[in-house]
Amino acid sequence: MPELPEVEFARRALTKWTKGRSIVRTEADPKARTFRGSKVSDVEALTGRLVSIERKGKYLLLTFADGKGAIAHLGMTGKFLKRKADAVEKWSRARFVLDSGDVIHFQDPRLFGLIEPVPASALKQAPAVAKLGLDPLVDGLSAAQLEEALAGSKQELKVALMDQERIAGLGNIHAAEALFRAKLHPARKPASLTDDEWRRLAKAIVDGIAFALGLEEGDEIEYVEEPGAKNPFLVYGHEGEPCPTCRTPITAFPQGGRTTFACPTCQPKSGGSKSPKPRGRKRA
Ligand SMILES: [Zn+2]
Repeated sequence: MPELPEVEFARRALTKWTKGRSIVRTEADPKARTFRGSKVSDVEALTGRLVSIERKGKYLLLTFADGKGAIAHLGMTGKFLKRKADAVEKWSRARFVLDSGDVIHFQDPRLFGLIEPVPASALKQAPAVAKLGLDPLVDGLSAAQLEEALAGSKQELKVALMDQERIAGLGNIHAAEALFRAKLHPARKPASLTDDEWRRLAKAIVDGIAFALGLEEGDEIEYVEEPGAKNPFLVYGHEGEPCPTCRTPITAFPQGGRTTFACPTCQPKSGGSKSPKPRGRKRA
């Protein structure tokens, strides 16, 4: 599933493709659940010049010159692709035809993706967007902000990191990578973290995203755990392989319905203060 860096790549690609261009026609597959309850005619009215494409967590916020707008989410398998005029693209659920003749397809084999028309002025108040927590790239992320967002959670640290209402944009891959970089066990309780551990974790999240954004755009990041698949991550998908830091074999275990990857040596289960320190602050 795409996480913050891949959605940011989609945002940059859409921005580049639509710069100085106008969308002359939009087509939507009336049978696709991509648009959920929206009218196909409202989707097809999304035309003209795109004046901004923003991202919050895993959501894209599209603003058109005429005040129309849309929220888009890639879901599990959604992708924006630019193709020549007559190219036929399998699983194309929506098509934005540019005045250059090129077509931007929203391709989504598994139909978990979303394109929903929302007036541009209401994009940030849309329920799915308004409830999102801090976006580490858009909002920045200090140790204090991270602690504020997570310390009230009773869940295990990795599960709490994936809660989009606390921190927006991290999923299974980047939560595991951040915890490895910070040398924190994924099952730690947020309330047990020391100030130094919050600092390490905030830096690890920002560094992990910067690393992923630094991968060459267009590099295929392989999400399928197949032997031999290209895998640029430190621990994710590396079960049984030596830890890049200490050579201990990476372990994998289920956590919150997903598979977590960690180094048992670098990420000890005990750490920080032995007993949770008293806290005055709680997340509202
Ligand atoms: Zn290690």
